[in-house]
Amino acid sequence: MALTNVHGPLTDDTTAQSSVPLRSLIDWTQFANCKGKTRLFFAPKAERPQARARREAKAKSLCSACIVQETCRQFAREHHEYGLWGGENEEERHLAGYTIAAPIGVRARQAKSA
Ligand code: SF4
Repeated sequence: MALTNVHGPLTDDTTAQSSVPLRSLIDWTQFANCKGKTRLFFAPKAERPQARARREAKAKSLCSACIVQETCRQFAREHHEYGLWGGENEEERHLAGYTIAAPIGVRARQAKSA
């Protein structure tokens, strides 16, 4: 017997057009490698560039060993998130074409050149 929900039949085939992939129904955040380490992923107020580089290096290290990295990165890109997600900071997302209103790195460089 096939499983179904309100969107149609469930399948693990992500190429199916009229069905919902099982993977999309699983809460990927439960597999996050960053649980309890939020402070590494979002800049505190008035963070200096050197401190930011150190913080982001630690966060990216966690991301590189995270089994949901690709899903996390795509989620952040599609939802225009702030902070570091999927090993990618705001500026990197912005440069990849997923713009947000004011990515911190871009904003800082604009302030320097003005
Ligand atoms: S990829 Fe990084 S930010 Fe995303 S869930 Fe994993 S550890 Fe957290």
